[in-house]
Amino acid sequence: MGLIVWIDLILFCLLFALFVYIFASVTITKLHKVYLGFHFSMMLWPFSQFAIKTTDNLEYQLFYVKLAFVDLALLSIGWLLFTLFLTGQSQFLRTTKYAALFIPALIAALIVVYNPKSMFVEPINGGYIVRDYGPLFWLIVSILAAYVVISLFVMIMTLASKIKTPRIKRQVRQVLRGMIVMILFIAADIICNVTSPKSFPVVPGLTSLGILVSVIFFVIAIHRDKVLDIVTIAHQDIIDTITLGILVLDENEIVVEINQSLPPYINLHIGERFNIEVVVPQGESISKTRPFLDSYQESPLNPAEIELTYRVYNAIDPFHVKIQVAPIVVSHTMVGRIITFQDITEIRHLIDETHSQNEVLQRRNQSLITIQQELFETNQKLQRMTITDSLTGCYNRSYLTHQLELKVMKHNRAPEPFTILLLDIDFFKSINDTYGHLAGDAVLRSTVEAIQRTLRKNDILARYGGEEFVIYLPNTDQDGANSLAERIKASVESNKIIVQQVESPISITISMGLLFINHITSEDSQNPQAVLNTLFDAVDKALYQAKNEGRNRIVNAQG
Ligand code: GH3
Ligand code: MG
Ligand code: MG
Repeated sequence: MGLIVWIDLILFCLLFALFVYIFASVTITKLHKVYLGFHFSMMLWPFSQFAIKTTDNLEYQLFYVKLAFVDLALLSIGWLLFTLFLTGQSQFLRTTKYAALFIPALIAALIVVYNPKSMFVEPINGGYIVRDYGPLFWLIVSILAAYVVISLFVMIMTLASKIKTPRIKRQVRQVLRGMIVMILFIAADIICNVTSPKSFPVVPGLTSLGILVSVIFFVIAIHRDKVLDIVTIAHQDIIDTITLGILVLDENEIVVEINQSLPPYINLHIGERFNIEVVVPQGESISKTRPFLDSYQESPLNPAEIELTYRVYNAIDPFHVKIQVAPIVVSHTMVGRIITFQDITEIRHLIDETHSQNEVLQRRNQSLITIQQELFETNQKLQRMTITDSLTGCYNRSYLTHQLELKVMKHNRAPEPFTILLLDIDFFKSINDTYGHLAGDAVLRSTVEAIQRTLRKNDILARYGGEEFVIYLPNTDQDGANSLAERIKASVESNKIIVQQVESPISITISMGLLFINHITSEDSQNPQAVLNTLFDAVDKALYQAKNEGRNRIVNAQG
C-alpha cells in the first residue's frame, strides 16, 4: 500500500490527537473527562466490530480486530478510573503505586498490537471475520477480567461503607447494575462465539449490545443523580476552595464531609462519630458554652453559633473561631447538619486592639475632664477672690464700684431707684487699742455677719476700706431704705461679739450716711465714674454729719 492510502488515516489521527488535546486541556472536571473518554472507548468496540466485516483485506481486518481489543484494554482502564472517581477515591491515583495498576492493561494492549506468532489471534478461512483466538487471548481476557473484578470490589466496598453518602451509594448501585449486565453479555459473547462456536450459533453484536445496555444504565445514573451536573460540581469546588471550614454530618452525627479549610486542631476524620462537646475547648466558661451545647443537643432544628478560643500547642497566639451550626432539612426531616468554622482571630485582635485603645482614650478623657473641672473650680475661686474681701468674706470695693457703674449706665434704659449706705464703726480704734488688733478683726467679721443677716438677697455689702462699709440696695425707695438702715443699725448694736481671751462680749455701734437716688440724667449716665464720685461724696458727707451729731445714727444725704 502506498502512502496515498494512509493520508486520510493520518489526517484522522491528527484530528483525533487534536480532539484528545482539547478534551484534556479544557476546564471541565476530571469526572467529566473520565466519563467521556470511557464512553468514547465503549463506542469504539461496536465500530471496529462492524469495520472488520466491511473489508476483505486481511491487513485491514487484523487492524480492526487489534483496534477492538486495544479499545477493550483502554475500556478496562477507563472503567477502573470511572469507578474510582465515582466512588470518590480518586486520591489513590495521585500515588505512583496505584498508577502501576494500569501497567497490565497497557501490556495487554501491546500484546494485541504485536500479536506475537499469531498467539493472540489467527485467521480462519483466510480472514479475520471468523477467527481463532490463541493462548495470549486468554491471558488478555484474564488481565481485563481482573480489572472488572477490582472495579466490582471497589463498588461493593463503597456500598458496604458506612461513610459514603446515600447519593454516592445510589449512583454506584446503578453503575454496578450496568457493569453486571455488560459482564453477562461479554460472557455470553465468549461462550457463543469463542469457546464453542460449533455447538452455539454465531450471535453477532453480543458484547456491543452489552455495552449499549450498560451505557443506558450509566446515562440514567448520570441524569438522575446529576453526576456530571456542573452546579453540583461547582458546589463541591466551592466547598474545597472556600476559607470557611465546613463539616457535614449525617443524621447519626457521623462525619460525611470535611473540607480543606477545617482547622487542623479540630481533629476530625470522615467516618468518625462527631461529638460537639469534644470540639469545645476546656478553658471556655460553662456559662458561655452551656446554652450553645444545650441548643445543639436539644434543639437540633434551630441554628446555633458560638465563638470559641483554641490554644494550640506551639502556636503563640490563641485562635478565635466562630462556629455556626445549621440543620440540613429535606422534606421536613432533618437529615444532617452543616457546621462551619470561621477563623476570626484577626478580627478579634482588631476588636481587642480597638477596645484597649478606646480604654486608653477614655482614661485620658477622664483625666482631661478632671483637669478641666479643677481648672473651672480654681477659676471660680480666683474669680471669687478678686471680688471678695479676704478678712470679712463680703464683697470688696472694686466689685461694688463695678456693679454701681453698671447700674448707672443702665439707669436710662431701666430706670429704677436705688440707695447707697455708707457706714463706719464708731470708736473702732479704741477696740483695737483695748483688745488688740486680732480682736478688732474678729469684730469686723462678726459685724459683717450681723449686717448680712439683715440684708435681702440682691443687696450688696462691700468693705469700702478699714472699718467702713458700703451697702447697695437696688430697687429700694427712700422709706424702704430708711427702715432697712434702721434694722441694720439695730442688728449691729444688738450683736454681742464674743472674742477669744476677752471676758465679756463686745458691743459696737455704727454711724451711717444714706443716699437715695431716683434719677440720673442720660448725659450723666455716660460717665458713671464721675456720677459715682459725686454720689460717694454726698453719702460721705452724710456719714460725717452722723459722726458729728454724736454717732450711732443715720443721716440722709441731700440728693
Ligand atoms: P470714729 O470713726 O468713731 O470717729 O472713731 P474711730 O476710732 O473708728 O476712727 P478712725 O478712723 O480713727 O479709726 C479707724 C481704725 O480702724 C484705725 C485702724 O487702725 C483700724 N483699722 C482699719 N482697718 C483695720 C483692720 O483691718 N483691722 C483692725 N483690727 N483694725 C483696722
Ligand atoms: Mg473710719
Ligand atoms: Mg470709725
